[in-house]
Amino acid sequence: MTTTRWALEVERLHKRFGDLEVVKGVSLQAAEGDVISIIGSSGSGKSTFLRCINMLEMPDQGVVRVDGEEIRLKPARGGGMEPADPRQLDRIRARLGMVFQSFNLWPHLTVLENVTEAPVHVLGRPRDEASETARRLLEKVGIGDKTGHYPAELSGGQQQRAAIARALAMDPRVMLFDEPTSALDPELVGEVLRVIRSLAEEGRTMLIVTHEMGFAREVSSRVAFFDQGVIAEDGPPEQVFENPVNDRCRQFLASRL
Ligand code: ADP
Ligand code: MG
Repeated sequence: MTTTRWALEVERLHKRFGDLEVVKGVSLQAAEGDVISIIGSSGSGKSTFLRCINMLEMPDQGVVRVDGEEIRLKPARGGGMEPADPRQLDRIRARLGMVFQSFNLWPHLTVLENVTEAPVHVLGRPRDEASETARRLLEKVGIGDKTGHYPAELSGGQQQRAAIARALAMDPRVMLFDEPTSALDPELVGEVLRVIRSLAEEGRTMLIVTHEMGFAREVSSRVAFFDQGVIAEDGPPEQVFENPVNDRCRQFLASRL
């Protein structure tokens, strides 16, 4: 018998804010090369779930494993959980690349410096080696001519591509995208989706929260529909988009046509 080695495993994850439980026992596994799109209405818990995977939000319960290694948590004094070993968390977090809706580049650093910062300071890579990798990645996302520019001098689409290069520079095991094109003018969405699609074709393991249904259908190996803090429908894109079993998933998709 062979057992799948998961790049990412989440088991029965719960997260509440005060009285409001927003993630209610969600489990999800991604094998190497899986591209999982997470869709669902605003407020259904998608961002919170993603943020709990790299512990930007601390889950109240649940297990997260990256490459088979569990992020060790312990009960926190005030309730909830906290990292049992902050250094272990930092080490595992470095294997999770995150791309936010709002780019989050450092405004006072050039594009090249944005991409080299973490490899130099977190991974301890020599600066010239990190710069070489950064140039290659910026070339790959189509902004090789912007290395010396500051984020404010770039379009939103270029900034987001720089943010993707920055995440890739850590050579993560799994990329987490939270609505990477939602803040962009419509004419800039395509250039960012093209980059993400090329990563999918290279076999990168990715979780992508997105409202771009056509894109999700095209690039995903699986689609998970979030509804009120649970995955209400999960399957291959053809099934979820053409034959959803869950009523609320049907309604959601109908409202998106
Ligand atoms: P989605 O990404 O699907 O739109 P979110 O995960 O952002 O959903 O939010 C789920 C619910 O949790 C919403 O009701 C939101 O208002 C609430 N929420 C999210 N973050 C916080 C927070 N830091 N404090 C309190 N409530 C929050
Ligand atoms: Mg969100």
